[in-house]
Amino acid sequence: MKVEALYVHIPFCKVKCNYCDFLSFTGCTDELQHRYIEALKKEALLNKKKLDLEVNLKSIFFGGGTPTCLSSGLLVQLLEFIQANFPIDQGAEISVEANPGTVNKEKLRHLFEAGVNRLSFGVQSFNKEMLKKLGRVHSPEDIYASYALAREVGFTNVNFDLMYGLPGQDLKDWERTLIKALELNLEHISSYQLKIERGTPFGQQMEEGALQEFDDELALNMYKLADSYLGKNGFRHYEVANFAKLGYECRHNRIYWHTKPYLGLGPGAHSFLPPHRVENLGVLSSYISMLEKGDNPPSISEELTLPTLMSETMFMGLRLLEGVNLNDFYCRFGQDARSVFPRAIKKCLSKGLIELNNGYIKLTHLGLYLGNLVFEEFLYDN
Ligand code: SF4
Repeated sequence: MKVEALYVHIPFCKVKCNYCDFLSFTGCTDELQHRYIEALKKEALLNKKKLDLEVNLKSIFFGGGTPTCLSSGLLVQLLEFIQANFPIDQGAEISVEANPGTVNKEKLRHLFEAGVNRLSFGVQSFNKEMLKKLGRVHSPEDIYASYALAREVGFTNVNFDLMYGLPGQDLKDWERTLIKALELNLEHISSYQLKIERGTPFGQQMEEGALQEFDDELALNMYKLADSYLGKNGFRHYEVANFAKLGYECRHNRIYWHTKPYLGLGPGAHSFLPPHRVENLGVLSSYISMLEKGDNPPSISEELTLPTLMSETMFMGLRLLEGVNLNDFYCRFGQDARSVFPRAIKKCLSKGLIELNNGYIKLTHLGLYLGNLVFEEFLYDN
């Protein structure tokens, strides 16, 4: 199996943010964290045996949750275990998601020296009041302090996740966030619209009428502002929600967008092992106890049909601004995307949402703003 990327889920956080529906738990003891790391190692080994890995990993991504909630000793121990047991490309991207305020110099140095070469900070906003509303643990000062430490220990590839469409946010506030991020000379910025999910405190407030849906037009203007601001300041908009300086596109996520095989470890983690998509169930206790017994953790596996694989290849690939290479599609599936998706292509072309150019199908500028309409067409057209 040509697995190119490994995702490791660390489901621990200091506190739960008001909008968060990710699988993460607060108040975890040291003992639980140790047991969890041991379980991850066992899951890694079970998969290694099962998968017969044919290629070196090009990316390892520790995501969460907040991986930096763990002690650096535990994180590094896990990384070294992976390094000792998996074939890894020299120069592979090794990323850790971190939250401002959950790192110190020693922890960052330890990670850097162990081979971590990309940090992704969950910044979201520079506005103290907004951060408070979101339930984030960090302050604007923490952002600057954590970023400075990352640079000091030697990180040269740093991402900030930023969020727009926050309750009560106006265009000016979002502009200030962008300006402050730009002042820091980052390599990568991800910019997401806040989604209110059921079962979260924000979801509850919305049901009670205390929180309103964010205005669509304002959200679109915020998206356009990020597009133009970041574009004018040395960032290339390379994926619907992602901007990078040249050469700093996130390699891990590119593997997802190119629907290449990847392995996910941890409760709630997804794997794509063609033709199967596998999801580990999100119950931490049963994840650990099954692995402690030497068994695979509970998961759901779905065998994807050829039409589904082709649809996924289109709507994931179209997220990238370079688009989907028709020749690659043909080599992979033995079919021309234009004859597999004639209706979707005709409809999106006629609305000016996509273009066919130099052997690629890609979003137009308009399509970029209305991406979901395009992705839906390819989802249901075969
Ligand atoms: S830090 Fe991230 S994963 Fe943790 S609770 Fe907040 S949004 Fe969720």
